[in-house]
Amino acid sequence: MRKKIVAGNWKMNMDLTEGAELVNEIFKGLPVLSEDKQVVIAPPYLHLTQTASQLTGMIDVQLGAQNCHSEASGAYTGEVSASMLKSAEVAYVIIGHSERREYFKEDSTTLGKKVNQVLSNDMKVIFCCGEPLDIRDAGTQNTYVEGQIKEGLFHLPESQLANVVLAYEPIWAIGTGRTATSAQAQDMHAHIRSVIAAQYGGDAAANMTILYGGSCKPSNAAELFACTDVDGGLIGGASLKAADFLGIIEAMADL
Ligand code: PEP
Repeated sequence: MRKKIVAGNWKMNMDLTEGAELVNEIFKGLPVLSEDKQVVIAPPYLHLTQTASQLTGMIDVQLGAQNCHSEASGAYTGEVSASMLKSAEVAYVIIGHSERREYFKEDSTTLGKKVNQVLSNDMKVIFCCGEPLDIRDAGTQNTYVEGQIKEGLFHLPESQLANVVLAYEPIWAIGTGRTATSAQAQDMHAHIRSVIAAQYGGDAAANMTILYGGSCKPSNAAELFACTDVDGGLIGGASLKAADFLGIIEAMADL
């Protein structure tokens, strides 16, 4: 049975004190989660060791990172490698977020290398895909997203796919307050699952966790998560307020 996940991407927000307080607040309100459900907190790099120590002993809340470098080590000033993240007890690494693709010009070749770095260091990838508004308006979103998945992931053997989580994040819904409807999310998630099935077979597709991201909040999480092919969410803005993030976790806990 595939896992359901709610992952919080803090992006470039929170100083160390604020981050520690947020994690404490989340702990205070965390509902009991069944074994097939998982929370991931992905703070900025600077927070990782602090957050890791706060998460010590927690099974249902795991540490995530928002990025890593595509090479294993070397003269890349300011960068952080996958093995460093592993040594900081990171379990999940977000790769291919639309902000990385847009602002840092990360292309499919780079993303494929990052995926390899994460997997070869025994962590899981949260691989983001999603179309911009003009592609949605043109009605070609399925082909577009399919291309992102093929280019970023299809070099992997099936054995490694179990360590990949997909996150469908329509760019027009990220941080805009404009959420995809549950029908739009379900349509795309079903398409993504069929793309995985065509390449890796039905079992791999059935076991793949596919998250929705884009203005997910407590008021719409339950409806989105109720869709057959939506297995939780990657949460930006609403992961920065304990009450909102907990409301979304509750929606997953109730499934
Ligand atoms: C994101 O950036 O991954 C995201 C989903 O952001 P938001 O929830 O703020 O739309």
